Amino acid sequence: MSESKLSFFQTVVAFFDEAARLTSHSPLLLHQIRACNSVYEMNFPVKFGKDRYEIINAFRVQHSHHKVPVKGGIRYSEMVNEDEVKALAALMTYKCALVEVPYGGAKGGVRIEPRNYEPDQLERITRRYTTELVKKNFIGPGIDVPAPDYGTGAREMAWIFDTYSALNPGQIDAAGCVTGKPVEQGGVRGRTEATGRGVFYGIRHVLSYAEDMKKLGLSSGVEGKTVVIQGLGNAGYHCATSFYDAGAKIVAIAEYDGAIASPAGLDPREVQEHRKATESILNCPGSQNLNSSQDALEYECDILIPAALERQITGENAPRIKAKIVAEAANGPTTAEAEQILYQKGVMVVPDVYMNAGGVTVSYFEWLKSLSHVRFGRLSKRFEEASNLSILNTVERLTGQSLSDEEKSQVIRGADEIDLVNSGLEDTMINAYDNIREVMHSTEGVDTLRMAAFVLAIDRVAISYMQLGIFP
Ligand code: NAD
Repeated sequence: MSESKLSFFQTVVAFFDEAARLTSHSPLLLHQIRACNSVYEMNFPVKFGKDRYEIINAFRVQHSHHKVPVKGGIRYSEMVNEDEVKALAALMTYKCALVEVPYGGAKGGVRIEPRNYEPDQLERITRRYTTELVKKNFIGPGIDVPAPDYGTGAREMAWIFDTYSALNPGQIDAAGCVTGKPVEQGGVRGRTEATGRGVFYGIRHVLSYAEDMKKLGLSSGVEGKTVVIQGLGNAGYHCATSFYDAGAKIVAIAEYDGAIASPAGLDPREVQEHRKATESILNCPGSQNLNSSQDALEYECDILIPAALERQITGENAPRIKAKIVAEAANGPTTAEAEQILYQKGVMVVPDVYMNAGGVTVSYFEWLKSLSHVRFGRLSKRFEEASNLSILNTVERLTGQSLSDEEKSQVIRGADEIDLVNSGLEDTMINAYDNIREVMHSTEGVDTLRMAAFVLAIDRVAISYMQLGIFP
């Protein structure tokens, strides 16, 4: 079958098979890792008015039970289908392995266009979907833990938590049944921003390897780099603000209804304000509209960040991509055929399985918080500050020098929850990239970051299965 005809799931399987050939695991074990363990399709009625019902089609796929709970977001989109959810669930397995969070992969999808529903209608759909998951034991802090994805956010996660709690009265760890909750509902600070911020930490680290950047004709460092972002949603917006704050120039932004550009650079916060006021990014002051949303992908830039949906960079438009780095904030934005073309053009593709793993990393932190019932830093912040102050007082006494009050408060400050979350996220993104890069340089036949990421993930999942004693 020609690569452009491959479905999303078949594309993920093709990447897996290519990488699997470079490992030494048995065909049986590889078969077990590749296959989706459980696929649950549901159709349920939701009543919206006196005589108005709709039958909603939805899915939850648990790709791998090598570790439990399984974990993965819930997507609301009218393009949701079984193949897509299976692909996204499989990517979650490899992603969790890469960032060493102890989960198997899963994903959920509800086939609706959320823009066509009022909030109270979305609430009914979300609560009924959760009830369906509870009925089949497809949700729970130790079973399967959803999170936000395309078309969902903290609001939907709060509804899921509330529905699950109502159906499981007295379950003390109920808050661990879902992540991405509002902070007031047991969420963790920094989760909303985590996917976009993780993309930033990852790319900043990629850019720090001067020798790799030299091959691409780029200098190291984020400052002054030109960036194009497709999709100003959760992943894209927080990614854009992180790059903007670090001195990169956001030269174009694409949304579903069109794209805008400015060679002088766009301020993503201003674009978002304009979008809130006018319901579109188009005609934002200080920018010009491009002919189409797709034009932004081909815009001259150093870093292209697809942060919307899968299959955006294809065999058709890949030859015209001008970016030197493609940072896959979205899942599956590059087809296998496009990947080949980009490789031949010398473009570095930083793959989704690594690039957007900041979301699940901070979801893991939130899950730990939910199970421990205590805010990160609560027990240590004041103790740290007292220790730092006593060290500082000793140094001041011994040297006869003293700091200003402002310098003093900076030096003694103990870590808040957000500091710890961001520090854990940054550390995770740096370590995971170094591990993937090391595999790329040390494994014969591996010449892209995606293949290296898959080889590493397959090895880690395989070890898990072997340690369970199921496979030799
Ligand atoms: P979102 O719903 O918050 O935002 C998506 C944005 O893309 C929206 O603003 C939408 O209007 C826009 N969009 C849709 N079609 C477009 C098109 N053709 N061109 C340009 N823009 C378009 O979704 P999100 O959570 O940011 O997810 C985006 C991608 O990131 C998905 O692939 C998702 O799987 C991936 N991802 C998200 C998370 C997370 O924590 N939210 C984590 C990992 C991966």
